[in-house]
Amino acid sequence: MEEMKGGGKVLEKDGCYGIDFENVSFRYKEDGNDALRSVSFRLAPGTINAFVGPSGAGKTTAVQLLGRYWDLNSGTIKIGGTAISELKTENLMDLSAFVFQDIFLLEDTLLENIRMGSGASEEKVREAAKAAQIDEFIMSLPKAYQTRIGAEGVRLSGGQQQRISIARAILKDAPIVIFDEATSYADIENEHKIQIALQNLLKGKTTIMIAHRLYTIRNADKIIVFQDGSVTEQGTHEELVKKDGVYSRMWDACTKSAFGKEEI
Ligand code: ADP
Repeated sequence: MEEMKGGGKVLEKDGCYGIDFENVSFRYKEDGNDALRSVSFRLAPGTINAFVGPSGAGKTTAVQLLGRYWDLNSGTIKIGGTAISELKTENLMDLSAFVFQDIFLLEDTLLENIRMGSGASEEKVREAAKAAQIDEFIMSLPKAYQTRIGAEGVRLSGGQQQRISIARAILKDAPIVIFDEATSYADIENEHKIQIALQNLLKGKTTIMIAHRLYTIRNADKIIVFQDGSVTEQGTHEELVKKDGVYSRMWDACTKSAFGKEEI
């Protein structure tokens, strides 16, 4: 693929920015189907937003396009009113932090796995790990932050990896955070820790959560419903439940399940 060229504009990393998708269409292959079809929405600065919808609906594609993994076929994506294609590539990378459960781990110490080449002091790394609810676990290991992970070292559970990922994001302190909720957590305690870690991470950020369970995002400022590459509904939980559309049917199914935690 041809290398994408960024523009020359730069947004301050300590700003707070809204995100606009304007008639965004994208397909992975020239002759393939559209993964996104004329998708439009506006996310206000400093708000928590959730993408919901069935698997394959286009949620991941949308967040990856925000990170400019690929160029659009048509439409515009803006951060703080500036098209991302006009931003310097390094600047765009500085503006967002992605948090996933399956993270890339270095065959190195836990310290370096959180620091990720940022040059942050050990004290700062530990502060981030504390806020991400992973410091206590690390300190319980005989070599603490000097513990190596990977083939020769300690293995981390999915929840622990996710908290390492949150610690990295806290350290990065980017104005936009993209959080892919895990489809399942090993235990309630871990899930609770992740909720606290997230609250610490998301303060003052513009957030997109790819949600797999509805009950975690009831309080989101905006919920965007994806279906088959299109955005079919958007609004708050209350607004969408009243609409009697796809979201309200998903919510009914969710509340009817034993613990209201059914995956979507
Ligand atoms: P979601 O995150 O909602 O599950 P995705 O954005 O992953 O949905 O997928 C949207 C559509 O794009 C699906 O039809 C999927 O098969 C397709 N798709 C996703 N990633 C790729 C890829 N790397 N190459 C080709 N098609 C892809």
